Amino acid sequence: MSNHFPVNRELFDDVMVPNYAPSAVIPVRGKGSRVWDQQDNELIDFAGGIAVNCLGHCHPALVDALKEQGEKIWHLSNVMTNEPALRLAKKMVDNTFADKVYFANSGAESNEAALKLARRWALDVHGEDKSQIISFKQGFHGRTFFTVTVGGQTAYSDGFGPKPGDIVHAEYNNLESFKALISDKTCAVMMEPLQGEGGIVSPTAEFVKGVRELCDQHNALLIFDEVQTGVGRTGELYAYMGLDVTPDILTSAKALGGGFPIGAMLTTTEIAKHLKIGTHGSTYGGNPLACAVAEAAFDTVNTEEVLNGVKEKAEVYVNGLKAINEKYNVFKEIRGKGLLIGAVLTDDYQGRAKDFLNAAMAEGVMTLVAGANIVRFAPSLIIPNEDIVEGLARFERGVAKIAQ
Ligand SMILES: *Cc1c(COP(=O)(O)O)cnc(C)c1O
Repeated sequence: MSNHFPVNRELFDDVMVPNYAPSAVIPVRGKGSRVWDQQDNELIDFAGGIAVNCLGHCHPALVDALKEQGEKIWHLSNVMTNEPALRLAKKMVDNTFADKVYFANSGAESNEAALKLARRWALDVHGEDKSQIISFKQGFHGRTFFTVTVGGQTAYSDGFGPKPGDIVHAEYNNLESFKALISDKTCAVMMEPLQGEGGIVSPTAEFVKGVRELCDQHNALLIFDEVQTGVGRTGELYAYMGLDVTPDILTSAKALGGGFPIGAMLTTTEIAKHLKIGTHGSTYGGNPLACAVAEAAFDTVNTEEVLNGVKEKAEVYVNGLKAINEKYNVFKEIRGKGLLIGAVLTDDYQGRAKDFLNAAMAEGVMTLVAGANIVRFAPSLIIPNEDIVEGLARFERGVAKIAQ
């Protein structure tokens, strides 16, 4: 095998499908909340692989789990079950409202399973007419055709031919707009308990409560998409735990594997029973390697220490961002929950979130955006406070370049 060609950003344009626009920087290794690129430049990671690397890079507990399982058994398929999957499922049901777990490989697949389950449940229990799915504008649920259609941005679902039907969208945080759509024909409501991609928008307490009540009145299932908010991100194991509302189905991915691809759908025994043998499945779902890493991540995150740490670190961030803003006046709001933080640009900087990301990157700190007007932070849940302070200092230098 010959490797005698340059592996750089240009190669991406040569050999990859052009659906992404990656940065010129190619990281090659990471440790905790720091990453090094091909030229050995060091970067502080406030992006966390888009809210995935909940324990930073190469956390010893995850590396150990991967190595240990890697020498035991990698894959069986669902013709057989496996110990890591059973252990992880047991821990997930013991620590949530759920009784049953279905494993997938991504957030979209977990949501796909949730939506198919809801439709099958409604058909079995209530009949053919109950098929409507309500979700919310600006919501994001993944990129399969069903989930992208349920998502609240038609730009992502247009242009692929006929869409899955009977899906409507209400306004997030607007109970009246939701009330106008829900009826006894509603099968399920899918929502994020804090909109991530859509702009880091927290629901009001009245809104989530109202959605739950209307679902109960109309016998509709409430599906919480916790793909971004789950596994400690908001300072709770799952965001619903801080909202006083329990969903019927919950999906988890991103941080669940701490960087190893895995997703899960959680529900009650009553609902789960409608996914009978043969109704749904996945070759890789519940793969032993993925479940072994996820089990280690779940155990490590699900402690008072880490979850309280998220709340404390969130304050360090918010105070730091406010201090930057006092000098440069670039943000009109700092919002979010726990370590899912959005800094909303003022009118003077509309559409320039990507410029802030690039300026920060040039100063050695990786950030994210959520749309064109919001700089997003989703770092490791255990990022050392020194790294937050140093990363914010770098971020400030980036902000200064833009604001001058
Ligand atoms: C990222 C995300 C998804 C999609 O997850 P994939 O693993 O990319 O399929 C779904 N829902 C929410 C809320 C997300 O943030």
